Amino acid sequence: MAEKIPGGVTMEKIVSLSQRRGFIFPSSEIYGGLSSCWDYGPLGVELKQNVKQAWWRAMVHERDDMVGLDASILMHPQTWAASGHLEQFADPLVECKNCHQRFRSDEVADKNCPACGGELTEPHLFNLMFKTFMGPVEEEANVVYLRPETAQGMFVNFQNVLNTTRKRLPFGIAQLGKAFRNEITTGNFIFRSREFEQMEIEYFVRPETADEWFNYWVEERQKWYLNLGIRQENLRLRPHRKEELAHYARKCSDIDYKFPMGWAELEGIANRGDYDLTQHARYSGKELRYFDEEANEHIVPYIIEPSAGVDRSVLAFLCDAYDEEMAQGELRVVLHLNPALAPYKVAVLPLSKKENLVKVSREVYDILRPCWMVHYDDTQSIGRRYRRQDEVGTPFCVTIDFQSLEDKQVTIRERDSMNQIRVPIATLKNTLAAKLAGEDLFILPEGGQIWKEEGK
Ligand code: ATP
Repeated sequence: MAEKIPGGVTMEKIVSLSQRRGFIFPSSEIYGGLSSCWDYGPLGVELKQNVKQAWWRAMVHERDDMVGLDASILMHPQTWAASGHLEQFADPLVECKNCHQRFRSDEVADKNCPACGGELTEPHLFNLMFKTFMGPVEEEANVVYLRPETAQGMFVNFQNVLNTTRKRLPFGIAQLGKAFRNEITTGNFIFRSREFEQMEIEYFVRPETADEWFNYWVEERQKWYLNLGIRQENLRLRPHRKEELAHYARKCSDIDYKFPMGWAELEGIANRGDYDLTQHARYSGKELRYFDEEANEHIVPYIIEPSAGVDRSVLAFLCDAYDEEMAQGELRVVLHLNPALAPYKVAVLPLSKKENLVKVSREVYDILRPCWMVHYDDTQSIGRRYRRQDEVGTPFCVTIDFQSLEDKQVTIRERDSMNQIRVPIATLKNTLAAKLAGEDLFILPEGGQIWKEEGK
């Protein structure tokens, strides 16, 4: 029986697992890496896609009041004047006169450099937007910015979406995509990087209902994390104090996660009032209003914005899933990822590389592949292969042994309990579908049997 080792997760262990097993690598590693940029490896890209898909499914496909959008990263420069980013999207920066390292002044406790103790300059505001040039001429007139958030693409398309979908209030636009911030201080792995992905919703409501919808989204978004396996004790809600609020926000609450380095923001939910539509209407000269047929009036809707980070979610899911146990006298590292998020849903493991076994195993693999991301592995001992799958969070391993050639049955091993059942190949697909959807392992299909009960 497995015995949990207390103390478990640290950032070093997550970074090491990520690199060792191909979840996340430093960007351009062969050149020494690029500060605060990361590459998602073969397993990381699957996990990240699954996080995004889970969000898209729950927030767009399963709702009547939401539509999606994929706006371009480069936007008209006036966007950033209207949004306030050119003026306001800046952090106070101080520089050490001795070692020239730069810090956010609000993160430096005293007047001296945290690195070398040298004297710091007075703070000046440092805009976090990355600038680039559009067209062949590098002059000020052609400056464009890499978007620091996906939100603005949804505000500027408000009228397009309204006209083409004929949505009535309340309704939302959802968007997933890259954002870029020239952060002064980065770190904590993918928690704060300079290139990252966001999952944002702009939810348009009648102004007098904004508080109600704000509360609704605060609840709804917490439920999303919990449904995907994040433990309640690792989530908390942190309402912003008045003086903390961003220039556009009337109200804001962060959903914080207890990362190994401490509590930190996973997602922010803000009541942005009518700030964005009013500003873009003013700067563009276009009307951004909504005609309420029942009340027979034009209104500027208020916006409730749940804004989440894909990378921070990936990190939270990894940290929350990570466990170390002693199993049969050996250390077992296991990621208890929700099956919806796990990179591989099933691993197919022939007991040996003997030709007749490989043939049946490839047949089993071919039955399962159209349904899920399935991994085939015939290297090393079966015990080591189980451990490898545990470490990357694969919920089920299917093992084909010599008896399978006779009885046309295979074993299914469950990651979390390590229990095993044996089922006819003919029922395997349906059995796995049920188990991946949460059915108890020991509910057996016809002809199935309990094979190994680790807990006993
Ligand atoms: P922080 O206070 O941590 O800098 P923020 O309040 O500036 O974050 P928002 O502007 O509210 O962040 O962005 C919404 C979400 O985007 C955040 O909750 C986070 O998940 C994600 N995010 C923001 N900045 C970064 C970053 N540099 N790296 C990774 N994710 C980020």
